[in-house]
Amino acid sequence: MRSTSFIAAGACLAALLSGTASAQRGGAATDTAYNPVQTLVDRLDLEKYKNTIKGLAQFGDRRQGTKRNRDAVAWIEAQLKSYGCQNVERITYQYAPAPAQQGGAARGARPPITSPNGKGRAGNGPGGSRIFSDMRERGVNNDSLAQPDPAIRAINMEPSSPGERQEVICMKVGTKYPNEMYIIGGHMDGIGWGQAVNDDASGSAIVMELARIFSMPDVQTERSIRFALWNNEETGLNGAKAYVDQRGPMQGKESPAGSGKYPEPKWLGMIQHDMMMVDHGPPTADGKLAPEQRPEADINIEFAITSKFADDAMKMAFYWRTANEKYATHYPASVGPHMSNTDSDPFKDLVPSLSLRENERGSQIGGNWDPTHHQPIDVLTTYTDKDFMLGLTSAQTTLGAIGQLTGATVKK
Ligand SMILES: [Zn+2]
Repeated sequence: MRSTSFIAAGACLAALLSGTASAQRGGAATDTAYNPVQTLVDRLDLEKYKNTIKGLAQFGDRRQGTKRNRDAVAWIEAQLKSYGCQNVERITYQYAPAPAQQGGAARGARPPITSPNGKGRAGNGPGGSRIFSDMRERGVNNDSLAQPDPAIRAINMEPSSPGERQEVICMKVGTKYPNEMYIIGGHMDGIGWGQAVNDDASGSAIVMELARIFSMPDVQTERSIRFALWNNEETGLNGAKAYVDQRGPMQGKESPAGSGKYPEPKWLGMIQHDMMMVDHGPPTADGKLAPEQRPEADINIEFAITSKFADDAMKMAFYWRTANEKYATHYPASVGPHMSNTDSDPFKDLVPSLSLRENERGSQIGGNWDPTHHQPIDVLTTYTDKDFMLGLTSAQTTLGAIGQLTGATVKK
């Protein structure tokens, strides 16, 4: 039987849900006790987040199996080491697809349009979702000439070759329970002849910013946190699957025996961050990105209702939503049941798993609410501070939730 709920280890869900959310914000006269997690959330900074995204964008679309992808892996590794993140490691695996699949073009193709009731515009979308319009995402751009910026086009010229792949991970080692951890992920590879800024430098930068803050010398956590920058997401989640295959069997084992060290602590939950910045609503009539972020912009926390851990994942999703109410400064969060098409998928039947996104993956992105997706316009110049701030909202949310769940404290 399952002995641990994701929250049995950490804070009590009911206490959090009924807790001090309103007291933390809203200008109430009464102050609450000092909260170290709030101190950590306050260390997030929009300019630092943007700079980390820019650092990733210098490697273009970072397509797997190219030098620009390997250079980005090395840059991420150097950043994590400079933050003082512990146990920086590379996961090594092979990726050798059949030649027809090498381009990765098949993924992201327009999902089949079906009309359950035989009429109307609605249809089925990714992850068991339903799309209530006749708009569909465009799929992957594979045309170099569709990129108007010659410098970005030049960076992206080298095609992908099959073979060895690597991805970088590091850890915050827990002081009291170093044998248990939560996994925070984003994918560093991209496609589409842009700079893969939204998909998924925006999520990778959240993972890196949290690694930076949790690695500060005055921060302690009782439980461990894994930071993972997945590769090969765009070809079918191959990097995350390699991690599950290689590290799953190592969970909770002390090595060397008696050392107090756990190279792979037991997994308590997995939280993925993928496409964090665009909530402009449905596209314009000609299928283009609506020019302004919509006033109702929110972040979307999704779990898979068909997964083995659906009940615990649902509770975890609402835990994240409550953390959003408590710690986020600009935008709210919604919860949905159709987590799909990202690196949390290989974890979902092993441990409670979530994805955080700008929109629901199925009903909204599937309905072309993000026309930058895998297109040449996924470049730095497309986005405004409102978009970057939506990304930082997910960073505030996950940092708050994880800080509470791992018992984070700050030395005074
Ligand atoms: Zn993505």
